[in-house]
Amino acid sequence: MSELTEAQALIERYRASYITVFGDPSLVLDHGDGAYVWDVEGTRYLDLLGGIAVNALGHAHPALVEAIRNQAGRLLHISNFFTTTAQIGAAEAILARADAPPGSGVFFGNSGSEAIEAALKVARRTGRPGIVAVEGAFHGRTTGALAVTWKEAYRTPFEPLLGGVSHVPFGDLDALRAAVTDDTGAILVEPILGEAGVIPAPDGYLAGVREIADDSGALMILDEIQTGVGRTGTWFAWQQLLPKGVRPDLMTLAKGLGGGVPIGALVAFGPEIAGLLGPGQHGSTFGGNPLACRAALTVLDTIERDDLMGRAVELGDHLAEEVLALGHPLITGVRGLGLLRAITLAEPIAPAVVAAARDAGFIINAPAPDALRLAPPLVVTAEELSTFTAALPAILDAATTKEAS
Ligand SMILES: *Cc1c(COP(=O)(O)O)cnc(C)c1O
Repeated sequence: MSELTEAQALIERYRASYITVFGDPSLVLDHGDGAYVWDVEGTRYLDLLGGIAVNALGHAHPALVEAIRNQAGRLLHISNFFTTTAQIGAAEAILARADAPPGSGVFFGNSGSEAIEAALKVARRTGRPGIVAVEGAFHGRTTGALAVTWKEAYRTPFEPLLGGVSHVPFGDLDALRAAVTDDTGAILVEPILGEAGVIPAPDGYLAGVREIADDSGALMILDEIQTGVGRTGTWFAWQQLLPKGVRPDLMTLAKGLGGGVPIGALVAFGPEIAGLLGPGQHGSTFGGNPLACRAALTVLDTIERDDLMGRAVELGDHLAEEVLALGHPLITGVRGLGLLRAITLAEPIAPAVVAAARDAGFIINAPAPDALRLAPPLVVTAEELSTFTAALPAILDAATTKEAS
C-alpha cells in the first residue's frame, strides 16, 4: 500500500472522528494571510469564498488579530448579568450603520441560525403565529430556522417542524399578497438568495414586500446574514434596494459581522418592535460576549476606515466585466452585488468547476449546479481577482474534460 500524504492521513482521522454531515473536506488548511490560505502541505490558494462570506477582513488581518489578542487578555466572557464597552459599542455601531431610529435594539447570539430564532420569537410575540418565507430561502439549520428554510432535503428528515410556515415563489408579489393573512406574524426574505445561488430580488420586490407587510400588519424580516456588513457595497443590502427612508422591521446578521469570530445579531427597528421581547423572554449564555463583540466592532470600524464597501462595488464590477469579457461559451452571466457574486454556467457542471478551480489554486463553491459563488474577503485586490479570471478558461476546460471522461 502506498503511503498516505499528510493531508490524506488527516482526512482519514477526520472521517474517523467527525459526524458525517459535510462529506469529506477537500483541503486541510493551516494558515492564511489576506485573501490567501495555505494547506498543511504548503500549497497556496486564493480564497474567493472567504469562509462563505465570513472572512470580511480576510485572514490574519492585523487589526482584528490585535483586537482579539487584546480582548482575550482582558475578558473573554462575563455572563449577561454584566456588560462591557465591547458589547455596548458593537450594538451602537450596528444601529448607527443601519440608520436605526431611537428605541431600536440589538440582540447578540452566536450564529445566523440563532439570529433567525430570535426573529421568529419576536414574530410570535405579535400574537399572529404564521410566517411566510420564499422558495429557495436558506435561514439555517436549527429547527426553527429550518422550518423557514426551503430545501426539502434539509427539512423533511426532521419534520414535524415549527408550524404555520408557508413558502411563496421568490420575486412574486401577487403570490406573497395572497399568502399573507391576519394570522401572518412576519414575512421573511433575503435581499439576495445566497444559498440558492446568489439570486438577487427583482427590482422593486423588497419595496413590495414592505407594502404588503404594512397593509397586513405583518412584520418584515430581512435576512442579511450573507448580504450584510458591507459586502454588497452598502452596510446592508436593503439600504440600496429599498426607497430612502424605508426599512425592514427586523434584520438578522451573522457571517461577516465577526470577521470569522462567531457572532449573530438581531436588529429590531424602533421601540415598538424592540419592545416585543420583554425581560426573561430570550437569552443566550455566550451571545454578546466581549470577544465576539470586540471582533465585530473591529470589523465594522475597519470596513469604514479602509472604505471596503466602496472597494466591494468597484471590485465586484471589475470581476463581472472581466468574466463577461472572456466571452466563454460556458459562461452565461454574472449576477449579485458588490463582492457577493455568482458566475452562471450553461451546463450543470459547477461542482466539477469548483474541483478544477481548487486544483488550479482557487477556492470558490457551487451553491447550485449551474452557479459558481464568489464571496471573497473585502480586502481582496483587483490583481488577485484578475488571476482567477485569467485562469478561468483553463479551469472550465479541465472541468469539462473531467465531466466527459
Ligand atoms: C448562512 C446563513 C444562515 C445561517 O447561518 P449559520 O451561522 O450557519 O447558522 C442564515 N441565513 C442566511 C441567508 C445565510 O446565508
